[in-house]
Amino acid sequence: MAPETDSIEMFFFPFVGGGHQIPMIDAARVFASHGAKSTILATPSNALHFHNSISHDQQSGLPIAIHTFSADISDTDMSAAGPFIDSSALLEPLRLFLLQRPPDCIVIDMFHRWAPDIVDQLGITRILFNGHGCFPRCVTENIRNHVTLENLSSDSEPFVVPNLPHRIEMTRSRLPVFLRNPSQFPDRMKQWDDNGFGIVTNSFYDLEPDYADYVKKRKKAWLVGPVSLCNRTAEDKTQRGKPPTIDEQKCLNWLNSKKPNSVLYVSFGSVARLPPGQLKEIAFGLEASDQTFIWVVGCIRNNPSENKENGSGNFLPEGFEQRMKEKNKGLVLRGWAPQLLILEHAAIKGFMTHCGWNSTLESVCAGVPMITWPLSAEQFSNEKLITEVLKIGVQVGSREWLSWNSEWKELVGREKVESAVKKLMVESEEAEEMRTRVKEIAEKARRAVEEGGTSYADAEALIQEIKGRRLARQD
Ligand code: UDP
Repeated sequence: MAPETDSIEMFFFPFVGGGHQIPMIDAARVFASHGAKSTILATPSNALHFHNSISHDQQSGLPIAIHTFSADISDTDMSAAGPFIDSSALLEPLRLFLLQRPPDCIVIDMFHRWAPDIVDQLGITRILFNGHGCFPRCVTENIRNHVTLENLSSDSEPFVVPNLPHRIEMTRSRLPVFLRNPSQFPDRMKQWDDNGFGIVTNSFYDLEPDYADYVKKRKKAWLVGPVSLCNRTAEDKTQRGKPPTIDEQKCLNWLNSKKPNSVLYVSFGSVARLPPGQLKEIAFGLEASDQTFIWVVGCIRNNPSENKENGSGNFLPEGFEQRMKEKNKGLVLRGWAPQLLILEHAAIKGFMTHCGWNSTLESVCAGVPMITWPLSAEQFSNEKLITEVLKIGVQVGSREWLSWNSEWKELVGREKVESAVKKLMVESEEAEEMRTRVKEIAEKARRAVEEGGTSYADAEALIQEIKGRRLARQD
């Protein structure tokens, strides 16, 4: 057993692809910067996406490495199966690796549903990474424990979420399917929570203090974010997640040609697939708003035939792209964009987002207010945090929770798109106040991860606890 003074060894086992993998790799880099020996466990094809970033970190002396399994799961599988891809092919490779080289702790993404059992059998300290903040956790918990959803007269009847410090109204239509029909879903998350050591959360105390306190009262939780802030250089920001497939320079040159604070960035994250009819409504709404925009359509479609089938490119209104180009009003991009670089560009004034937690935090860190368009996962809760608690965004009016591949029952019409865009982008007292508030929060985010900040302290605290556990075992 390593002597007490040695740094601790942490493993990070992210889920494959997109919005779960990206922050966990950043989290590994954060802990490495605090001196923990961090190893990211990955499949070979997935490791290719972040290999460059990690090599760069190693060259700068960070104690970080990638361990690749012999079994593979790629982004292409992910495109086919969505976030519910079965990663259990990695069970045996993980078990063998843990037997060979037991770490002081392993941080595991919540989607590896099978992993806790084998980690616990081996007696290794297990920490959960769930990819979202404290607010949605409080919303979910209090709805699950205190609201009888069957008593509501319809999916659209509003109810107040009990026990929260803010008055938050929800409807059944905005809730994830596992909350609406709990009997159909075994509560694996609860099991995870109950017997794991704690939760590493990509958030920071000052963003949601009441909700962080609520979570910390019930569970060991370390808020170590926003982890995206560990990407300090332009190269880091470009390479993060995976190298962009769109022409980064073209995109930045276009933004450079725009006035500061004048462009709306539109993107719906790494998994969402918008139907052609919805893309059309967005296009018409953007055009009618007369605001300048950069729109990333249909990200993460690695498979070109699927891209075509998904049709993002081919379903925009006829002549739309050409008109936008001629008027110099809008740039439509297809593929994987360097989101951090775009959001931080001085030309960006607003972000139309699906409220994925990473996009939300990245917008906050860049000091950019949002137009919220939640679709799935915990995004409807994030919308409430953004627009009603933090008051740094306007709602487009999306009302129906959708699983990643379900049929869209209701489109958000062009008038709603136009109205939300104007509310955020056209100068007004309300828009100015949102901008001021989000910039203040951005400053707090920056301070949180610096020495003396809350997230910095939480990362140190976790390392000390793990050291303590190692010592206790040695006694
Ligand atoms: N992202 C990116 N380029 C893209 C699309 C997404 O870099 O073209 C990144 C984005 O910066 C964020 C993540 O992918 O870190 C998306 O995570 P989020 O939680 O916002 O949404 P999800 O993709 O999980 O729905």
